[in-house]
Amino acid sequence: MYLKSIEVQGFKSFANKIVFDFHNGITGIVGPNGSGKSNVADAVRWVLGEQSAKQLRGASMQDVIFAGTENRKPLSYAYVAITMDNSDHQLAIDFEEVTVARRVYRSGESEYLINGSPCRLKDVTELFYDTGIGKEGYSIIGQGQIERILSGKPEERRELFDEAAGIVKYKKRKATAQKK
Ligand code: ATP
Ligand code: MG
Repeated sequence: MYLKSIEVQGFKSFANKIVFDFHNGITGIVGPNGSGKSNVADAVRWVLGEQSAKQLRGASMQDVIFAGTENRKPLSYAYVAITMDNSDHQLAIDFEEVTVARRVYRSGESEYLINGSPCRLKDVTELFYDTGIGKEGYSIIGQGQIERILSGKPEERRELFDEAAGIVKYKKRKATAQKK
């Protein structure tokens, strides 16, 4: 499984619709300061369900919507879609390609989609359990994160190992069953 593409529209500095196409290898994103490199990583975090404005370097969740520039009006919504190559069927869904999308309007209205079908955030989260992908996964290592892992509480470090070992979904199911 690998990230095939990221589509952004109205997300942070990306007013126009832009599609980044990737291949099964290493891709580097380079550009001057403030050109939007980190915004690309923010887009991936956001579509995977990030709910913390702070994690996305904003003050409120609406800050992800293109705020306008001197000669361009603000937009009314932000949209991000990531497409994963799933030909190895690592994601438990019967598709060779999986597209996860999220859209939010200034009114606060929002939606998630998996391959075009509206779904809950929970469905997105569960799809990526034990893959290392996800807002709690280790596929995105942000600034200062290594430091936090090393100096974190043992229980927090344990969560990372659970994810890598592929047992998160069983633990979550057990916790849900015990609540019922
Ligand atoms: P650096 O090299 O300094 O890390 P970078 O390439 O990572 O820079 P980003 O932090 O991704 O840059 O982009 C910052 C830019 O995104 C700023 O110019 C900021 O104004 C713009 N930006 C962030 N949120 C929005 C928004 N909601 N609407 C419009 N522009 C935004
Ligand atoms: Mg940056």
